[in-house]
This record gives sequence, structure tokens and C-alpha cells, in this order.
Amino acid sequence: MADILYIVVPCYNEEEVLPETARRLREKLEGLMAAGRIAPDSRVLFVNDGSRDRTWEIISQLHQQCPLFSGADLTRNRGHQNALLAGLMTARERCDMAISMDADLQDDIDAVDAMVEEYYGGCDIVYGVRSSRAKDTFFKRVTAEGFYRLMNTMGAETVFNHADYRLMSRRALEGLAQFREVNLFLRGIVPMIGYRTGTVEYERGERFAGESKYPLKKMLSFAMEGITSLSVKPIRMITALGFLVFLISIAMLIYSVARWAMGETILGWASLVCSVWAIGGLILLSLGVIGEYIGKIYLETKERPRFLIREVLEDRDGKAD
Ligand code: UDP
Ligand code: MG
Repeated sequence: MADILYIVVPCYNEEEVLPETARRLREKLEGLMAAGRIAPDSRVLFVNDGSRDRTWEIISQLHQQCPLFSGADLTRNRGHQNALLAGLMTARERCDMAISMDADLQDDIDAVDAMVEEYYGGCDIVYGVRSSRAKDTFFKRVTAEGFYRLMNTMGAETVFNHADYRLMSRRALEGLAQFREVNLFLRGIVPMIGYRTGTVEYERGERFAGESKYPLKKMLSFAMEGITSLSVKPIRMITALGFLVFLISIAMLIYSVARWAMGETILGWASLVCSVWAIGGLILLSLGVIGEYIGKIYLETKERPRFLIREVLEDRDGKAD
């Protein structure tokens, strides 16, 4: 008996791409069902992340037209990571494996077949990894690859060129459910779950309609979020920096005493002013980094819910008909 697959798709203002995405995903599911690789109860689960356009209406229509589509509606916009988590947690009770992907289908859906095969081969987590970024704009490519490098040098271990396109088995999802952090960075958390993992390579395409919801500003805050959620390396770097500055100050002390002995103490206005600014800047920067962590602790202690679901579109009698 084949296992149940849920494809989880977070959607934020995606009215332009949804009909086409739904058509392609339906074809994919029907193909896999015909080949007997997945159970007939498999679904596409669209998560509406508080869209301001007709996204939810379209999802509801799709659900009415075809039992393969289901949907979950969040109470408001919570961002991609939370929307994805909401979808995965909804799918967890209903599926044997779940694949997450973006609504714009930039991640080649033909990799789904290979992921499912890896799953049957015994993998609990299968990462989709981009083999090249030839179709991304130059700017996106450079910033995105810089992002992975920055993450890894800052001590947040992530799979290179893997975004949130991955398959997780039910027990991996159960594992994920036990990570209770509010500052969610799935790419960093999933590798911590463990189990046997595999990778599937694919080519990343272009968004076929609509605009990217990840402008540079969001990418930067995403990187900051990832680093401070996963590692304390920046704080260690501050300590190292403090140590270095201390060493420099000893050198400066020796230097000043020497100048004084030579009777040249009036000199040095420029170096004094520079060091005041440099030290001030370093202190502010360090306070900022430490503040980031304190902010995180503050948010974590509140344990606010990461998402609230307004409605889940279920099949009429809980089963496909
Ligand atoms: N997304 C979301 N909530 C948000 C922003 C984005 O659910 O607040 C979804 C969006 O609908 C898409 C996915 O996250 O399915 C990735 O967004 P996008 O394709 O715009 O990012 P990019 O591919 O440019 O990094
Ligand atoms: Mg995209």
C-alpha cells in the first residue's frame, strides 16, 4: 500500500500564480497516484498567509472543484516560515510524508518523484538542492549565495543552496513539532532533527508570474534571524574583538609613555579623536548584537503562538470521494 503525500504550499498574495500552480501540482499528484507511488488520499495543502488579494477565494474554489486540494487559512500574515510550519503541522496528522514548496513553482516539481523514491528508500528527510542558479537574476544569485556563506561562517549550519523545498516523513514532522522556538528558522532546525537524510538536485527556474516576496531587506533580516537563532558565534566574536582592542590599548599605552618620555605629548589629537570614535562605534555595535539576543530571549519567554489557523478545508466526510 502506497503512503499518503501532502504537498504544503505557503501562499502570500499569490492570486496570479495559484491557478497555474494548482494545475501543475494536480497533474503531478495524479501521475504519482496512477503509478501507484502515493496513496489516493494524498493532497495539496495551500496555506493562506493572510493574503490581501483573492488568494483564499481561489483556494476555496479549488477545494470545491477537486478533492485533491485542501487549504488552511491563517488569521493574519505571519511570514513564510510560520506559514510553512502551520502547513506542516496541519499535514502531520494526515500524511505519511510532506513536501514543502513555494507557490511560484520556482523549484522544479519534477524533483518530487525523486524525493518520494528517496523516502521509500529509507530517508526521513530529503533536501531539494539547487544545482545552479542560472535563471535567477545576477543580483539575486550573488545575494543568495552570499547569504549561505554568511550563515555558515557565523556558525549557523545549513545545507548549501537548499531553500525550503524538502520532504519530511511523518516522524520527522513529529520531531519538528518538538522544537518550540518562536524565532523560527526551519532550514537550521531541520538538520538538527537527525534521521537518515538524502538530497535531490534540481534546476531552479524563474517565477512565472507575480513578484518576489523576498526583497533584499527581507533577505537581510532573514539572515540575521537565522544567525541569531542558531548560533552564539557573533557574541564570541565580540569577545574576541574586545580582547583585540584591549591588546591594542596596551600597545597604545606603551606608545604614549614613550612619546611622553621624548617630550612630545601635545601630538596625538588626531589619533585620540579616531580612537574615541572607533571604540564608541565598537561598543554600540556590540551592544546591538547582544541586544538582538536579549530580544530573542524576550520573545521566547513569552511563548506566543507561532500561528493561529482560522479554518482548514477538509474533505466533506474526511475522506476522498
Ligand atoms: N510567502 C508567505 N508569506 C510571506 C511571504 C512569502 O507565505 O509573508 C510565501 C510566498 O507566497 C511563496 C514563498 O513564501 O510561496 C516564497 O516567496 P517568494 O517566491 O516571493 O520568495 P523568493 O523565491 O523570491 O525567495
Ligand atoms: Mg520564489
